[in-house]
Amino acid sequence: MTRPNSIWRALAGSERGLRRMLQYWAATALLYLAAIAMVEWQVLYGFSEVGAMRRLEVFGIGGILCFYFLVRFSTPLRLKPEVLAVTQALYAIGCGMWSYSISGPVRGAMLPMTVVVVAFCMFALRPRQTLVLTAVALAAMGGTMWWLQAQDPVRFPPEVEGITFGYLAAALLSTAVLTGEMHKLRARLKRRKKELELALDTIRQLATMDELTSLANRRHMNEVLAAEERRGPRGAGTCVALLDIDFFKQVNDRYGHAAGDAVLRAFAATARAALRSHDVLARWGGEEFLLLLPDASPQDARMVLERMAERVHAMRVDGLEQERRISFSAGLTERRDGEAFADAINRADKALYRAKEAGRDRIEVA
Ligand code: GH3
Ligand code: MG
Ligand code: MG
Repeated sequence: MTRPNSIWRALAGSERGLRRMLQYWAATALLYLAAIAMVEWQVLYGFSEVGAMRRLEVFGIGGILCFYFLVRFSTPLRLKPEVLAVTQALYAIGCGMWSYSISGPVRGAMLPMTVVVVAFCMFALRPRQTLVLTAVALAAMGGTMWWLQAQDPVRFPPEVEGITFGYLAAALLSTAVLTGEMHKLRARLKRRKKELELALDTIRQLATMDELTSLANRRHMNEVLAAEERRGPRGAGTCVALLDIDFFKQVNDRYGHAAGDAVLRAFAATARAALRSHDVLARWGGEEFLLLLPDASPQDARMVLERMAERVHAMRVDGLEQERRISFSAGLTERRDGEAFADAINRADKALYRAKEAGRDRIEVA
């Protein structure tokens, strides 16, 4: 890892949720910095007293830094996103009250900031919580205005404060309603996204899996083979085998189609359990299966198939007589260098035919 990368990780963590919260924090920090620049401007024009403004700036910068640490370490500190959001919002409302009381004739310009505070909470708070926060903001700003006009009615004329408060109330309440709607919309989108992901999973499964046996279906196996062809040669070679259950029609005829299905399911589960993790077994058609054995010599592959045959012989299936033994015949071949799988499968098919001809329940290598 490069050095700037590790510094970035230390600052922003690696978790996605945390990074998003820190992005929101960065946006509020930028807002605070912009406000501090404006404050400097106010001081320059003599609208505000330097000392009071400096104290507010220190308070603001201190707040930004504190909140960085609270957000960055919110997991070990067990701080929930909504708790963090409310704390930051209350702090910002405090800054708003303070700056309103010391900004002289430009104090009205502080009010849009209070609206922004409510809008920011949209991501973390539920609509009802946003409404409560709005009420708190209104009470805080209203209280400040009332106190200022009572203390100094010349600089803070009651009518001016009253009208200003009316505008603020209208803006804050409509913002709260709008952000509430946005929150609901976001929640709906999130739900829809989850439903789509689930549907996609199902579709993916239906497209790649055989319904009866839960093995890979023919279509998926063809994709696996195409990927294997693109992949270039393997050290130990690759084998393919075609497997066909012996006298399966008899099973259907004697025990019924449902018992036949049960045999197919049991065969699939037993055969799969005998495989290595990177072997792929697919239902190629009816009671015929295609097995891909990457990184396997014909001797390895034969051993796998013999192990499989033993387990299939020992298999007991509901609906069949106890003594009924299931067996399969297999045609096995090694894929030649650069050979198309279709050709190798053809060879395996011929070997399978020979296995059937020779009496079934055996493995023929081509
Ligand atoms: P062999 O030993 O030569 O392979 O004989 P077999 O009876 O196994 O072969 P055959 O091809 O004559 O019969 C296969 C049977 O498999 C015919 C078909 O009805 C049955 N079959 C195909 N798909 C299914 C299925 O999904 N469920 C059930 N129960 N039977 C199926
Ligand atoms: Mg058969
Ligand atoms: Mg068959």
